[in-house]
Amino acid sequence: MSRPVPVPTPLSEPFWDAARRGDLVIPYCPACDLRFFVPEPACPGCMAPDWRYVPSTGRGTVYSVTVVHRAPGPGFDTPFALAVIDLDDGGTLLSHVDAGDAGDGGDAGDAGDAADVAIGLRVRVDFRPLTDEITLPYFVPDAGD
Ligand SMILES: [Zn+2]
Repeated sequence: MSRPVPVPTPLSEPFWDAARRGDLVIPYCPACDLRFFVPEPACPGCMAPDWRYVPSTGRGTVYSVTVVHRAPGPGFDTPFALAVIDLDDGGTLLSHVDAGDAGDGGDAGDAGDAADVAIGLRVRVDFRPLTDEITLPYFVPDAGD
């Protein structure tokens, strides 16, 4: 069985469209200068309804991390690291962090990789197609290039 696939809503559709192109966009509220995630009908800072999506560099720092050992459903490879990412240009995201791309040659699923994700780790966004419609943003260690 494959894992559940996110279903875009009118609110989240621009996010998924951008992800499919390899771009990270997040909601930005010009009224109170706040970047936030997940998209909501009104800005969580000031309740303004007229926020818009803006591009993010997709670079950031691990603020908090947990290693998930028990799959939330079919189709998830465990263990995996789930982290709160503080984006450099504002906003925070909850995302998978795959330390398997760190250049150690290990495969992405082994336990050591998930355990290598630590608070303060520099990360950048990476995109993995899940279906023709949905491309998932992941984060991987940022070598600083
Ligand atoms: Zn606001």
